[in-house]
Amino acid sequence: MSAINRQVAVSSSLNLTTPGRVPFSVEFMPPRDDAAETRLWNAAEAFHDLGVSFVSVTYGAGGSTRARTLRVAEKLATKPLTTLVHMTLVQHTVEELQDILRSYAELGLTNLLALRGDPPGDVNAEWIPTEGGLEYAHELIDLVRAMPECEHFDIGIASFPEGHFRAGGLENDTKYTLQKLRAGAEYSITQMFFDVDHYLRLRDRLAKADPEHGSKPIIPGLMPITSLRSVRRQMELAGASLPKALEKKLLNAAAGDEEKNRAAIREVGIEVTTEMAERLIAEGAPDLHFMTMNNVRATQEVLHNLGMAPAWGPGLGHDMVR
Ligand SMILES: Cc1cc2nc3c(=O)[nH]c(=O)nc-3n(C[C@H](O)[C@H](O)[C@H](O)COP(=O)(O)OP(=O)(O)OC[C@H]3O[C@@H](n4cnc5c(N)ncnc54)[C@H](O)[C@@H]3O)c2cc1C
Repeated sequence: MSAINRQVAVSSSLNLTTPGRVPFSVEFMPPRDDAAETRLWNAAEAFHDLGVSFVSVTYGAGGSTRARTLRVAEKLATKPLTTLVHMTLVQHTVEELQDILRSYAELGLTNLLALRGDPPGDVNAEWIPTEGGLEYAHELIDLVRAMPECEHFDIGIASFPEGHFRAGGLENDTKYTLQKLRAGAEYSITQMFFDVDHYLRLRDRLAKADPEHGSKPIIPGLMPITSLRSVRRQMELAGASLPKALEKKLLNAAAGDEEKNRAAIREVGIEVTTEMAERLIAEGAPDLHFMTMNNVRATQEVLHNLGMAPAWGPGLGHDMVR
């Protein structure tokens, strides 16, 4: 018997929009130590109270990180929160992947983000498949679909507004993204981006190339910027670009001293994400997915600006979760 009540399918929580309001979801990372773990549970409670539609948990390289993903996802799902577990092919044989999928099924974790993952250590290094493993995310979807115990899984995939850096162009990127949607993924979550036009072009590209599968929901991935250094690093890792005008705005706010002017940088970050979210809502985005780095405050401030959450501040219950 599963430890968790049957989970709502993420795909069924999408498009539950009312005028001016869309569902929102958040990404968590498995915590590295006890202090980070406490912060995560506080954040999970805060987002629960703010009405989050689902929470996702990333999957890293290395055994202990992976065990943490499973443990954290299991606990989140009992909160109760609709929980989406990320899974990658990195350093796994097919048998291992099947074992992991079985343990998700046994625990009642039925929402899966099927990913290939990046080479451990250096995302830009050559991607070498594990012997006896799989090469592309669409094969993971095929694997899930072939397992009777996982037949009720609701599967999402990654999509890339600027195209994936290994795709060899947008035409190939479209073809490979559609391959995953045709294999049985119900929706995608995008790589973080800062130019809404990139998201809209991805949506148009996919829908034009295959009106049936290409029109499945695309959840925009948003990261409220709170530090210039960290956003540069994140964009580098993602193989994506920071628009020049935004970089200039952030540099102006930093005024040559990033540490001293953190508050001004943050203010620009929150403002930019709010404006992006407003445009995405107007364009009919099915959900807003926030990459939170396990913090609440920046996301809550954006949600508040959108009229979707109370202000962040003393006496508001979860105001201690950064
Ligand atoms: C929302 C989101 C969440 C993420 N979470 C995690 C996480 O938790 N852990 C983690 O390690 N990484 C995570 N990633 C990063 C992701 O794993 C990497 O970006 C990875 O490089 C691509 O994964 P994919 O699932 O898109 O792979 P795939 O779809 O397999 O694509 C990999 C590359 O191969 C190309 N390709 C695909 N199919 C074919 C084909 N048939 N023939 C030739 N080329 C092909 C693609 O264009 C792409 O360049 C996440 C990314 C996103 C957007």
